This record gives sequence, structure tokens and C-alpha cells, in this order.
Amino acid sequence: MSVSQSLRELISNCTLPASEARILLAHLLEMHYQLPRSALLSRDDMRLNEQAFEEWENLVSRRVNGEPIAYILGKKGFHNIELLVSPGVLIPRPETELLVEIALAEITKLNRAAKVLDLGTGSGAIALSIASSTTLASLIATDQSPEALDIAKQNAQSLALSAQIQFEQGSWYEAISQQDQFDVIVSNPPYIASQDPHLGQGDLRFEPESALTDYGSGLSCLQAIISKAGNFLKSGGLIAVEHGYDQSEAVVVLMKDAGLIDVQVHHDLAGHCRAASGRKSLKNP
Ligand code: GLN
Repeated sequence: MSVSQSLRELISNCTLPASEARILLAHLLEMHYQLPRSALLSRDDMRLNEQAFEEWENLVSRRVNGEPIAYILGKKGFHNIELLVSPGVLIPRPETELLVEIALAEITKLNRAAKVLDLGTGSGAIALSIASSTTLASLIATDQSPEALDIAKQNAQSLALSAQIQFEQGSWYEAISQQDQFDVIVSNPPYIASQDPHLGQGDLRFEPESALTDYGSGLSCLQAIISKAGNFLKSGGLIAVEHGYDQSEAVVVLMKDAGLIDVQVHHDLAGHCRAASGRKSLKNP
């Protein structure tokens, strides 16, 4: 038995925007029929069987209820890799690719084996993108959430990058040996203030709250990470953190207060100051 509507009609009769309906239908065609996305065009008069049609209605209603597409598909593209994502981890954002680029530029400049620390790795997005782009990096990636670490480890395995990354559970630097020192530290910590109305809107409603907000002013995790960076950086080592679009000045102050030098702000593709970096001086060992 097949359903009366063609793929073309399913898309045009769907309550979702056509772009979203196409993404969901392409996913369904891949799962149920092993067909590529191009089947949306080349076989647009095809009819789904009853089981696939039920699944279609289920996917559409999840999206109509606001569930993020990345959680519905269970995956999200980031930098040059694809990651498994589930509601236990933040959905990687394009602006976070900025941290990957900053870290890769530093590793390229060093032009030798580099030790990299990713604090609060979530799905593993930052650490895994770095690992997939250069064999010079050996990484430690931490997270407080065992559920997030499970997902990050699965991603490392499916990308065949496990040998380059060690995963550790704990809060920021508590997760690692207190003697360890790194060439590069990167982090995209929770930085949304607890009062920010965005937490109750859009995709954010479905994401882990502890990955989004510090339950305070938005700056407390950034402060915890920046203030102790000097203990865990080699001389001349670099730390780069992501922050909110309106937190740039405050984060620059945190870096200067921590004695970091060469403090720089970095813009995302939308033009917002989205990351800051600083260096441990060569003089203070
Ligand atoms: N960039 C995310 C957002 O604004 C927040 C991620 C974070 O807090 N690190 O939706």
C-alpha cells in the first residue's frame, strides 16, 4: 500500500517551510529507501509506503513542536566533519568554527606537535574538528556531563580520531592533572545569563540548560576558565574562548586581569565579536 500524495505534494502541502520539509523528507528517503537527496527532484512523483508515511508525519509533528532539526536527524555538520548529536549535547553552531580556526592557525604557526585542551567539549565538535584537520595536535577534551562524553567518544570513534584525543570528566581544569600544560586551550562554555529570554525560545528550549547558561551573569564559567589559564598554559601558549555577542569587553578585561598578553578579539561571520584570545607571557614560567 502506498500513500496517495507524491513527494512533490508532501512538500507543498506541508505546514513547515519548504526548505525544512525537504531536509526531513531527504532524511526519510535515505533511511527507508537508501535514496540520495537528489531523489526529491528525480523521483518527485514517487509515493511513500504506509510505514514511511507514518514516519513522515511523526518527523513533521516533532518539528512543528519546535524540536531542532539536528536532534530530529541525530546529526549536524560542523567545520569539516559531521557529528552525532542528541539532546544530551549542545548543537554545534557555525560561529564556533571560529575557535577551530584560531587553534589551527596557532598550531600551523608552531609547526610542531602541539598539546591542545578543549574544556566543555559537548559533542566533541571543536576537539574533533582540530584533530581531523591536523595530525600535529594531540588533545584532551573534558566535560562535566558523562552523557556528553559518551556522545563525544562515539563521534571520535566514528571519525576514526580516538587515538588523537583523550576524554576526561570533570568541571573545567578539575578534569585534568594539575601539572599538565598546553600549547593551546579552547573553550565554548555556557555564557548565556540565567535571565536571558532566549533560553525559553527556539532550539535552546530543547538543548541541555547546563551547556547554555551558567545560572548567573553569563560570565562565571568564562572567568573560571580564563583566571586559571596561566597555570595550564606553556609559556607563550594561547587560550581562545567563545562568548556572547555583548560580552567582548568584559572578557577582554578578564584576560588582562589574568595577566594574559596579546589579547585579541575575533569576529564571527555575522560580524559579532564572538571570541577572545590571549597568551601566557614568555617571561612568567
Ligand atoms: N552560541 C549559543 C547560543 O547563543 C550559546 C552557546 C554557549 O552558551 N556556549 O545559542
